[in-house]
Amino acid sequence: MKLHEYQAKELLASYGVPVPPGKIARTPEEAKAIANEYNALTVIKAQVHVGGRGKAGGVKLAKDANDAFEKAQAILGMDIKGLTVKKVLVAKAVDIAKEYYCGLIHDRNVQSFTLMVSKEGGVDIEEVAATNPEAITRFAIDPIKGLRAFEARQIALDAGLEGNLNKIAAMMVGLWNACAGSDATLAEINPLVITTTGEVIAADAKIDIDDNAMSRHPDLEAYREVEAEHPLEVEAKAFGFSYVKLDGHIGVIGNGAGLVMTSLDVVSRVGGKAANFLDIGGGAKAEIVYNAVKLVCKDPDVKGILINIFGGITRADEVAKGVIRALEEGILNKPLAMRVAGTAVAEANELLKDKPINIYPTMMEAATAVVKEASA
Ligand code: GDP
Ligand code: MG
Repeated sequence: MKLHEYQAKELLASYGVPVPPGKIARTPEEAKAIANEYNALTVIKAQVHVGGRGKAGGVKLAKDANDAFEKAQAILGMDIKGLTVKKVLVAKAVDIAKEYYCGLIHDRNVQSFTLMVSKEGGVDIEEVAATNPEAITRFAIDPIKGLRAFEARQIALDAGLEGNLNKIAAMMVGLWNACAGSDATLAEINPLVITTTGEVIAADAKIDIDDNAMSRHPDLEAYREVEAEHPLEVEAKAFGFSYVKLDGHIGVIGNGAGLVMTSLDVVSRVGGKAANFLDIGGGAKAEIVYNAVKLVCKDPDVKGILINIFGGITRADEVAKGVIRALEEGILNKPLAMRVAGTAVAEANELLKDKPINIYPTMMEAATAVVKEASA
């Protein structure tokens, strides 16, 4: 679950990380009232679940309350990478002397978290990582001991950060505590600002909470926003599917997360790009398969569908029945390639044999065919 900047800042503040005072506005009038209350330079910031808002025009300074009204009016309703801005954070602006980067990612390679720190803050860290990787200092955190202040100070030194080391280290330790305490998979402060008066403050923050840990954090449930999720993901959740919207054009349906992941790789291997990940789970009946096909067909990005089933508990004939129903109801209106194997495959082939559905013996052949058809 992704948190908005204002939510991430609220969480960080509860762990003692200094953040600028700020409040949420849903209308220009509300933004004006907040700016009026602060009676200072403010920054108006789009609250959408994507990065790079600054570059997209979603972060603007406002010199007074009237200016805050205008800037909020310009940002509210704006489209940033496909998401409509419905609320803005109106925060007291900070006087920036230096912008640094500090982030934690759940890193399977080190079986813990990697702390990344860079002098090149403010901008896209992905860009820094790609063009100037040595500008990022990395440190693997011991998951039992956590991040300790002396380690954080050393990393800040290694990264060449300038400013009050104790305050910088305290911010990193606070970030770690918030990350570990909320079961986050990612937590970053960018920019970590050193102000002109030498204060250290988190001017922007991003936190993703592990969905599988949400049961441990009922208090964070209030941060969830169904409207911020992709509408197809919301629908998929209602069906109980594991579904992730992706940015390609091949709809992928399979049984079992591993097989679906492999299917995504195979689609990419043969030159395509998946439009989604959809795992129908184990033991799916025809109805579930039918709903999965229906959901994927609703996605306007989908130009072709790959169904990859290895029947174990799932019976291939149930899958066939679901697909046939979607076909007969006219829902399945895009090129489809199927690979079915395993339990009840003979029955499935019998059901499918007179239908206009292309079956392939291997997933590679099925993926190749559908990618070719989708790009025709
Ligand atoms: P992002 O583009 O989505 O990462 O949004 P940020 O909150 O990181 O803002 C982008 C940039 O706007 C920052 O790197 C700063 O340069 C600038 N900015 C953000 N907040 C402030 C502020 O309070 N004061 C000043 N002077 N600049 C700010
Ligand atoms: Mg930022």
